[in-house]
Amino acid sequence: MTHPVIRRPSRRVMVGGVPVGGGAPVVVQSMTNTDTADVAASVAQVYELWRAGSELVRLTVNTVEAARAVPAIRDGLAARGCTVPLIGDFHFNGHKLLAEVPECAEALAKLRINPGNVGRGAKRDDQFATLIEFACRYDKPVRIGVNWGSLDPELLARMMDDNGRRAEPHEPEEVMRHALIASALESAARAEELGLPGDRIILSCKLSGVQDLIRVYRDLAARCDYALHLGLTEAGIGSKGIVASTAALAVLLQEGIGDTIRVSLTPRPGEPRSTEVQVAQEILQTLGLRSFTPMVTACPGCGRTTSTFFQKLADDIQDWLRNQMPVWRGQYPGVEDMSVAVMGCVVNGPGESKHANVGISLPGSNETPVAPVYEDGVKTVTLKGDKIAEEFQAIVENYVKTHYGQ
Ligand code: SF4
Repeated sequence: MTHPVIRRPSRRVMVGGVPVGGGAPVVVQSMTNTDTADVAASVAQVYELWRAGSELVRLTVNTVEAARAVPAIRDGLAARGCTVPLIGDFHFNGHKLLAEVPECAEALAKLRINPGNVGRGAKRDDQFATLIEFACRYDKPVRIGVNWGSLDPELLARMMDDNGRRAEPHEPEEVMRHALIASALESAARAEELGLPGDRIILSCKLSGVQDLIRVYRDLAARCDYALHLGLTEAGIGSKGIVASTAALAVLLQEGIGDTIRVSLTPRPGEPRSTEVQVAQEILQTLGLRSFTPMVTACPGCGRTTSTFFQKLADDIQDWLRNQMPVWRGQYPGVEDMSVAVMGCVVNGPGESKHANVGISLPGSNETPVAPVYEDGVKTVTLKGDKIAEEFQAIVENYVKTHYGQ
């Protein structure tokens, strides 16, 4: 069930058919970590990200080989039925790559330009202009993506000098935050002067500190109506990355700030790249902004339940529900709003089960070995024996077919 949040008004940007901003649902995006020049590996990973629910996928375009691979990646994905819009990430040599491989620009749905990495000195403005001219020529939107790790050093030096002349100078961290915003807004103004319409510009200002990110985006959101891409850069690995991203994004999204999000997790060795998509979806869904997959409510367990059976059941049901979604999404509209409860004993079990569409309370220690099941708040069956997991899954599947079938 989604909840209304008053969204910051922003211009709508179409990215390969996906609306970003202007009141459209917050879009989930991700980025590959394959060598873009490796077409087979890149197709496989973009496909994985798309299957997980990524609505836009970014690839780094850093060499001529990578630029040449982009149309082949697009075609390889189309052959597998995947038309997810691809975004090209350019640094330093983007102007040369697009001049040498213009079909790369044609194959992309959006260009991402980092104003701090476009070029140095006098070349910077020319190279930025070249990139914007390509975007105009091929009708592509642009994300002007500022990152505090690669902030334009000339702009920062100028703003630090100006600050030094103030009667009451700001702290250097504050000047840096102002410089990030200035870099984004000045670059956007320059892009518009060069002919790129404002409804083809998305801005981002990424930092790795949660409080810094929140302050910068609040300020940025108040000072423009461009669509905003939101994300904590270099969020980190494992639970740290997930918690930091969630803490930052949740505050801003709740304030209506952010039109598209990425969760920049460092995958653990062997961890699928698509974890970042799952986390982004879960942030939006737990905030009640969008629904992607049925959610499982489960209790943490305690001394009343000594068995891990209910933990395994909750985990298996959640995985199973998520894995059904690529097919269910088309077959059972609205199923993404379904809630399932898996509880460890009768203390809170039946109550929580009654709030879910389908819920089960497993027997705690010293309780009768039976598991009451509730559907829409009504007890429909009591399971017992060795097949509780299979029988509960069958009940959930039947509920989906009877409640969401067209
Ligand atoms: S529902 Fe029961 S098992 Fe779960 S945390 Fe509460 S008391 Fe413990």
